Amino acid sequence: MNDVNIAKNIASLHNRVRLAAQKSQRSPEGICIVAASKTRSAAIIQSAYEGGIRNFGENYLQEALEKITTLGDLDLNWHFIGPIQSNKTRAIAENFDWVHSVDRLKIARRLSEQRPNNLAPLQICLQVNISAESSKSGASPAEMPELVQAVKALPGITLRGLMAIPAPTDDRKQQQQAFAQMRELMAALRANAPTMDTLSMGMSADLEVAIAQGSTLIRVGTDIFGPRSG
Ligand SMILES: *Cc1c(COP(=O)(O)O)cnc(C)c1O
Repeated sequence: MNDVNIAKNIASLHNRVRLAAQKSQRSPEGICIVAASKTRSAAIIQSAYEGGIRNFGENYLQEALEKITTLGDLDLNWHFIGPIQSNKTRAIAENFDWVHSVDRLKIARRLSEQRPNNLAPLQICLQVNISAESSKSGASPAEMPELVQAVKALPGITLRGLMAIPAPTDDRKQQQQAFAQMRELMAALRANAPTMDTLSMGMSADLEVAIAQGSTLIRVGTDIFGPRSG
């Protein structure tokens, strides 16, 4: 994937977002694009930066830290979007701006305690296992009210919303149901947690459906960078 292709891909992604937003009478400015850059080199990330992307999502800590260091001169926002082991929270708290994959109180507490005082609060989304897959990360919808109440009180972090990765399916109806459940869950939870303004849902294959259900942040890898080789 070269710079020209990445620039083209970013332009067509903006088009998709604009069309999807229009269909739902939403403003495209209300939808943040996070480039899911796992397995992509720092040079490739720099190409996306030159194409106007400012938010990047990473899944693997060691790989991410190398890229964050290499690209330290660029004005980027780094989002951690992968599963979190508790021995990784300190490096995440010290190096990222956002974490989308918080799925238990223990992880939120550690991020809160370990966020350096000289940095802005870490922006947190709670991951919901919306398709109830036993293999997937995320807390169940039923666990959310209690988790929200506990997390929103922690210093050093700001609870911004919810994230989900529904079970992959080509069935639009099923995609739509999962995202609609997220929209409803979010509406119920934010009544008691006004800092929640972010619904992190939608990827290359389903971003239109997610936007129709109120997504405010999409995480897109393949449609920016091309297929992943590994
Ligand atoms: C890889 C990844 C994405 C992007 O997936 P694509 O299908 O390549 O757009 C989004 N979210 C998470 C958590 C990911 O790991």
